[in-house]
Amino acid sequence: MSRSTLVMGNWKMNLSLADAETLARGFVEAAPFIPGGEIVLCPSPVHLASVAATVAGVGLGLGAQDCVAEGPGAVTGGSSVVQLAEFGVRWVLVGHSERRALFAEGDSLVARKFAAVVAGGLRPVLCVGETLEERDAGRTADRVLSQVAAVLSADLQPGFAVAYEPVWAIGTGRNASLEDVVEVHELIRGWIAGHGGEALAEATSILYGGSVTEVNAGEYLGHPQIDGALVGGASLDVGRFLEICAAGADPAI
Ligand code: PEP
Repeated sequence: MSRSTLVMGNWKMNLSLADAETLARGFVEAAPFIPGGEIVLCPSPVHLASVAATVAGVGLGLGAQDCVAEGPGAVTGGSSVVQLAEFGVRWVLVGHSERRALFAEGDSLVARKFAAVVAGGLRPVLCVGETLEERDAGRTADRVLSQVAAVLSADLQPGFAVAYEPVWAIGTGRNASLEDVVEVHELIRGWIAGHGGEALAEATSILYGGSVTEVNAGEYLGHPQIDGALVGGASLDVGRFLEICAAGADPAI
């Protein structure tokens, strides 16, 4: 398949500046590489400038954890897409479950952010996923596809990615089974094919996120329906994240 593997480390609101620089330097020194794919670091926004300088020119990508849909202008505390682009950011997460839960971000705001990222020439990663309650009620497919439809219906151009991240699997050590992930990825890809055509569906990377570790990464990344991983906790450790990247480069590992 032609779509590329994308392994993203979401550092969230972790690390001191010194620790973020050390972590970034660790990756630079190891120079991980996924043939035809990308490894993307998403530091805290206050560490973007420093991490950008550390990884400049070594082939590691930079991502943002969020953005503001509007601007530039009067949005206290926000970062516009234009500002993020100045640091060399290429990918922007939109709709991460922590933003949805902690900042009450709904689908319409996520859709506006997605459109703003595209308009700014960057690449959005739309994060979707069901809560444990929704899963237990048998509503996983409905929930995920409604999140997908709310954002992608208006904007089906190539260049975005989708990250399926069941909320109950994020930061819990309870990763979703391969079968469950594949089933949801097929649903998402089927939706994209139905609304944007087969070519778009085949070209769109769909990542899994939720307690991905160096132990389980190979299983996910070895499956043709899983085009990458969005990694939280394990991306804060050079050795663990490098092993996950190695699994992305060669799923047989
Ligand atoms: C995430 O932050 O999106 C995530 C999946 O975290 P973790 O890997 O820690 O579950």
